[in-house]
Formats: sequence, C-alpha cells, structure tokens
Amino acid sequence: MRLNRLNELPLNFPETEKMPVLFLGHGSPMNAVEENQFVQGFRATGSALQRPAAILCISAHWETRGTWVTAMEKPRTIHDFGGFPPVLFEQQYPAPGSPELAELISETVQTTEVQHDHSWGLDHGAWSVIKHMYPEADMPVIQMSLDVTKPPQEHYELAKELQALRQRGVLIVGSGNMVHNLRRVDWNRLNDTYAYDWAQEASEKMKGFIATRDHNSLIHFQKQGNAFDLAIPTPEHYLPLLYALGLQGEDEDTALFNDQYLAGSLTMTSVKIA
Ligand code: ZN
Repeated sequence: MRLNRLNELPLNFPETEKMPVLFLGHGSPMNAVEENQFVQGFRATGSALQRPAAILCISAHWETRGTWVTAMEKPRTIHDFGGFPPVLFEQQYPAPGSPELAELISETVQTTEVQHDHSWGLDHGAWSVIKHMYPEADMPVIQMSLDVTKPPQEHYELAKELQALRQRGVLIVGSGNMVHNLRRVDWNRLNDTYAYDWAQEASEKMKGFIATRDHNSLIHFQKQGNAFDLAIPTPEHYLPLLYALGLQGEDEDTALFNDQYLAGSLTMTSVKIA
C-alpha cells in the first residue's frame, strides 16, 4: 500500500477546516464581462468563504482521454469560444498555477493515474466564474480534466478520492450547467429567465434528487427519461455536478444559488455543499 502522502506533504497546504465544495452554473462566456444576477451570486458566494489555499476546478470545457491536472506555474487564459465581442477575447485571468497541488492530487488519487499537463491553462469554464470570486487573481488555480472514457459512476467515485484536499484548504469547484442544451437555446431571448417544459421537469427532478441525497438517480441520468435526455444531450456540462456531489459528506447539506432558468434550455442553478 502506498503511503498517504497528504501526511508527508504539508508544504503550502497545512491542515485547515473543511472547505465547502461548489458546483457553479457558468452559462454564457459573457458572464465574464457582464454585471448581472449570476455574477452577483458568484461574488456573494466567494466572499462568504474562508480564503482557500488554492482552487481545483473541474470544468465542462476540458475533456481528455485519461485524467489530467494542469501543472504549470503560470496557466494561460484560454479563450475557448467564438462569435463573441472583442472585449471577451481581451480578458486575462493571470492566477498562478500550483505544481505542488498537481503533485498532491497525483499522489492522493489511488484508483486512477492523474497525469500532469503543461499545455492547457484556464478555460472559460474556470476563469469566467472564478474571476468574480477572486478578482485579484491572486489565488492559485489548477484544473482537472474530464476523462471521456469514464462512465458517470467513475467520475463520482474519483471525486471521493479528492475529499482529503478539503482539509488542506483546497476549494473544489465543478463548473458546468445542470440543464444545458445549446441546440434548443432561444438565441433571441438569451437573457430571459424562462424554461421549456422539459427543462423545467428535468431541473425540478435534479433538484429533488440533490435535496434528498439521491445521488444514485443523478449518476444514472441516462435512465431518467426524455426530459433528462433533452437536458443533458452530452454529459460534459453535467458531470462536474457529480464531482461536487461525490464530495458531499454524511453530515453536509446542500444550498442552491443562482437557481434560474435561462433562454429556454439552460439552468444556472449552482450548489454549495458544506
Ligand atoms: Zn460551458
């Protein structure tokens, strides 16, 4: 059996109170530069937290084969979107990386090889929301990728192995959207908070499962019928939720914020676990 390196590698991560876990509905990249109710929700959530030592973000926008963590000192700001105004492409979020945290994760996770990446950086799933929580960009941020070869259950189980990091000051953030069907988005009503019937049905069921801690039904989202099929046409925006829920302790509750429908086929619903 391998040693528990958490006990050997205090480095920049001494023991702390257990950090909360967040799932953030990131929505449009424009949230990076707009002032709206969602941005205010991210900001309020950030200011209510004790200051973390570092942030680990599992973003919908980094899909790989195998599981990777960013391990560079200075992650670049990735503008991984098209068709938006120049102001969005001018945004920089120069948060430092944390090779130490990348190493700690590789040592901590036992069931999967977590490899070190030196080419990714921070995609908009990470920086467009984290910038509202930590506008000074003085908090180390690293990302962990979504392994496209893993079934949903394995993402949920992998999250559990990150549990100990919460007591080393690491804020773990899943960034996606629970209901996310871009093909059905009403682009003429992009800022309107309304939902199609199926989006509402799926969202209400998801929130019910979260409230009753029925994680099994959420893991098996592909068996929940037509509304879920439309809400989750591809899994990448939903899977970060499973990472957050995988980290929910027996004694912990969930609280929703930014719980809004948007443009018919999106929800911004975000979850704080503490
Ligand atoms: Zn997205």
